[in-house]
Amino acid sequence: MTTPQRSCYAAGRGGCSSGLSREHYVSRSVLDLFSDGDAVSLGGFAWMAKGKVKDLPIDAITARVLCEEHNRQLSPLDSEALRLFQTWERMYPEFANPANPSSWTERVDGELLERWMLKTLCGCASSGVVAMPETVRPGWHIPDTWISVLFGDAPMPANCGLYLLSEPGDQATAERAIVIEPFGLGGELVGVRMELNGLSLALFMDPPALPLEKRQLITCRPARIVFYDAQSEKGVHLGWTDGGTLRARYSPS
Ligand SMILES: [Zn+2]
Repeated sequence: MTTPQRSCYAAGRGGCSSGLSREHYVSRSVLDLFSDGDAVSLGGFAWMAKGKVKDLPIDAITARVLCEEHNRQLSPLDSEALRLFQTWERMYPEFANPANPSSWTERVDGELLERWMLKTLCGCASSGVVAMPETVRPGWHIPDTWISVLFGDAPMPANCGLYLLSEPGDQATAERAIVIEPFGLGGELVGVRMELNGLSLALFMDPPALPLEKRQLITCRPARIVFYDAQSEKGVHLGWTDGGTLRARYSPS
């Protein structure tokens, strides 16, 4: 019996190139945007205390889990995530300058963003660097259906995908940190929660069971995420091809 070699997690699709990319499981461009020089504040790693963030050098968080060709095919996902976070970077200094209030909305492709979160989750699951939830059985591997969704061959299953976990009226903070917390259920990895500069998002690859957290309002595929102060509103309009927004509200009993 031979030890399995680390390989491209999309190898089942065929068409792998010979070299594995030196992939950052959070897109390098996003890490650069959030970084302070060469380091970025990250949380959720296997060896970290839960809820803690730590400054890590960007180049220390790579893994060879995807071949160069499949990584290249997924580059539009990285670009779209970068566009979202560039919006955040533009927003905070503008809010901090009340002498010049302006309201605006940027458009971001919601499905590309969702698939970027799935790419991040697949990278984390393959690399073993981010802490996997204890509920996930050893030997779990990425289902073929996830790979089909990731590469745009299949739609996101109903009621799965991007969920906004912040409540309307939440106070936004300009904290520059990225926290990645995969979660599981019944032995399977189900999704990932991501804290990105104060915005709390989750990707569900199985429909979520309510309640997620007491009195937490969740929105599936939000159409708009808007930040405001007394003088202006700034935010993103998320485009979805299915045009629908499902809202799931948890009511405390
Ligand atoms: Zn490949």
